[in-house]
Amino acid sequence: MSSKVYINGDFIDSELAKISVFDRGFLFSDSVYEVVHVDTNKLFLFEEHLIRLRRSLCELKIQEPQVDFLKICKELLLLNPIDYGGIYIQVTRGEQKQRSHFWNNKNLTPNLIAFAQAGMRPESKALKAITYPDLRWGRCDIKSTSLLANVLAREEAALKSADEALLINLEGFVNEGSSTNVFIFKKGKVYTPPLSENILAGVTRNFCIETLKEMGIICLEQKILKEDLFLAEEVWITSSTKDVLPIGYIDDQDLNFKAPNSLWEKLYEKFKQRKIKALN
Ligand code: PMP
Repeated sequence: MSSKVYINGDFIDSELAKISVFDRGFLFSDSVYEVVHVDTNKLFLFEEHLIRLRRSLCELKIQEPQVDFLKICKELLLLNPIDYGGIYIQVTRGEQKQRSHFWNNKNLTPNLIAFAQAGMRPESKALKAITYPDLRWGRCDIKSTSLLANVLAREEAALKSADEALLINLEGFVNEGSSTNVFIFKKGKVYTPPLSENILAGVTRNFCIETLKEMGIICLEQKILKEDLFLAEEVWITSSTKDVLPIGYIDDQDLNFKAPNSLWEKLYEKFKQRKIKALN
C-alpha cells in the first residue's frame, strides 16, 4: 500500500510526488529537515522541532514556507497512522533552472515535503557503537540534509554490526553520534558535550537534561574525551527515534553495562512518564 505524502500544499500518493531535477536540495543538499517523533500516533515535542526548523531555515537564509506545520503533521498521521516513528519534514531552497552555486536575487520558491515513517519501538537493550572520525562541516548545529559524513559513519557501524557511530573530533573529543547525542555517567554525575557549532541541539538531549534535573541528578554540559567513554559507568545516546538508550559495547570493548539498577533504567522510567504527558 502506498503512503500519502505532503508536497507543496497537497497530500498525494508517494508514487505521484515529484520534485524537479533542478531542485537545489537535490543538486547541492541545499535544504534542511526535521524529524518529529510520533508515539501512539501522537506528536512529541512538536513546538521544539518547529523552533529548530525555523532556526535552520533562518541560518541558511531559506524562505520559510507560510504553512501550518502542525496541521500538516496531524493530517499525515490521519492518512498514515503509526504507532512509533516520526514525521519527516524537508524544506529545500527550491528549483533553480540555471544551475549555479549562488542563488541571490533569484527569488526562489522553497519546496516543502513531509511524510510519516514508522519505526521499531526501541528495545531496552544495550547497543553497540563504534568510534569514528568526525568528518563533517563546521555548522552541525544546522539540521541540513548534507548528511554524507553521518551516512558514511553509520554505514561503517553497520558493517561492523554496530548500531551507532560516535563521532570524534581532531582533538579527541566526542561530538555526538551519527544521528544521536551522547551522554556519559561517571562518579555520580552525568556529562554531555556542550552546545556548539559541532553538534545538533537535540530535542531529546534537552528533554533528557530536564528529566535528570527533575530527578535531582547533576548533568554537566562539558566536553567528553574519547577515553572517557571507556572509563564511564554508563554511556547513553538520545534521539527522536530512539528516546534514550544505553551503549554496552564500544569498538568491541565490553563496557559491562547492566540494566538492572543502572541510572539509565531510572532515567528511562522517568523519561517515559514525562513523555506520555507531553504527547499530543
Ligand atoms: N545529532 C544528530 C546529528 C542527529 O541527526 C540527531 C537526530 N535528529 C540528533 C543528534 C538527535 O536530535 P533529536 O533528539 O532532536 O532527534
